[in-house]
Amino acid sequence: MSAATPLEIRLPDDALQPAFERLKAAWNAKQGLSYQERMKLLDRLAGALKRWEERLATAISEDFGNRSRYETALTEIFVPLSAIKYIKKNLRGWMRPSARETSWVFMPAKNRVIHQPLGVVGIIAPWNYPLQLAVVPLAYAIAAGNRVLIKPSELTPRTSEAMQAMLTEVFEPDVVAVVTGGPEVGIAFSKLPFDHLFFTGSTSVGRHVMRAAADNLVPVTLELGGKSPAIVHPEFPLDKAAERIAVGKLFNAGQTCVAPDYTLVREDQVDAFVDAFKAVVGKSFATLADNADYTSIVSDRHYKRLVGLVDEARTRGARIVEINPRGETLAPASRKLAPTLVIGAPDDASLMRDEIFGPIMPIVTYQRLDDAIAYVNARPRPLALYYFDRDGERARKVLSETTSGGACINDTLLHVGQEDLPFGGVGASGIGAYHGPEGFFTFSHKKAVFMQARLNSAGLLNPPYGKTVDRLLNLLVGKTRRR
Ligand code: NAD
Repeated sequence: MSAATPLEIRLPDDALQPAFERLKAAWNAKQGLSYQERMKLLDRLAGALKRWEERLATAISEDFGNRSRYETALTEIFVPLSAIKYIKKNLRGWMRPSARETSWVFMPAKNRVIHQPLGVVGIIAPWNYPLQLAVVPLAYAIAAGNRVLIKPSELTPRTSEAMQAMLTEVFEPDVVAVVTGGPEVGIAFSKLPFDHLFFTGSTSVGRHVMRAAADNLVPVTLELGGKSPAIVHPEFPLDKAAERIAVGKLFNAGQTCVAPDYTLVREDQVDAFVDAFKAVVGKSFATLADNADYTSIVSDRHYKRLVGLVDEARTRGARIVEINPRGETLAPASRKLAPTLVIGAPDDASLMRDEIFGPIMPIVTYQRLDDAIAYVNARPRPLALYYFDRDGERARKVLSETTSGGACINDTLLHVGQEDLPFGGVGASGIGAYHGPEGFFTFSHKKAVFMQARLNSAGLLNPPYGKTVDRLLNLLVGKTRRR
């Protein structure tokens, strides 16, 4: 039995319940969106993203303290726009019913799968890409014809407000609504009897969300985090590996769910890797303090957490290499944290157990490739894995002997930018996926439909059973039965 009906839920946010009920009522009265409505709304969403770009970029930067305008343009504007373009190109095909095989026994009946909107979908978004991680799931949910309620993160309040204003401009409140608030709103939100709940955030909160959803048997997609490894094979050019790993790590100051969390380097190459990493940072971020393209850590709590991770590793005997090309003083108030390499941190240090989510890169050493694979496999399944090697055979071995949500060979992050590839975790890094056709099907119900033909043989198997059924069974089972 469902633990709570909408009316029984006590809500901390007055806006939540009415917003949800309006969407539910609209679903009950009008159901989902037609193809034409979906296409029109996707166009309007794309137009709004372009019109609101400046306001949104300012809001995001103010929320972070400083967020590179380029990072914002690429990930919060370009990524949703290209997702919308891709969805529009493929939507007709995805919506088409698919024909399925019919066994000769039931011919000439036909089998079809039809794709229906699920109903009212809830989306809970995190702060690290506060616009993209609300708007891209929204685009897929709309493409599948649903009505949607969104709860953005409380850590990026200006962005949430701007996004709410933008989406109010695009959508009627009985199609899409945004409710704001902190964890208490998140808790109430995840208790609502949605038809699907799509959560992006930490693994620990994901557990709470799934537990709350279970009371109403609400299916969930959980887009979570974790520690994504980068493995460098000794034959791969170290400077190139260091460049791609550093770029992946330092984008958004490491506050990316698929950022390479730590790097596995062969023992004898550690010093060369450190030098190559330092060289890349020097080239990309000659200055940190006054560099508008070096993003700040989102909050004081996260800043202190990251400083604490390095301090603990240092105390436990790790070598710390802080890369601050001009030796600037980075005021804690700016929440800019210099890229930091940590070598030799013990396995049980917090840095090696928790997702880092900042510009700190632990380097773990290995001797044989099998040892690196074993190191990864001894830990929870990561969201991404990055392997650097030009040998295809070895790359296939690493891909087949490890399990991760996604992977890149010879690069980092870029698999997430490939719109036709599904994006999601596995094990502790998530459940389900979106992007690509998977995005549409995540938000659709696959309804199995059997269509009986006017002339058919179904009556032959009806009781009273007798010789005809015996003969048919002999044929079907391939063995003779006697009465
Ligand atoms: P978080 O889990 O702290 O918060 C995410 C959202 O959940 C916020 O809107 C928050 O208000 C809400 N929330 C908090 N407590 C809740 C509860 N008990 N019930 C329901 N909702 C609740 O995550 P965050 O700090 O905003 O984001 C960082 C994390 O998200 C990292 O672990 C990162 O790896 C992960 N992440 C994953 C992806 C992905 O696509 N897989 C993308 C970005 C971030």
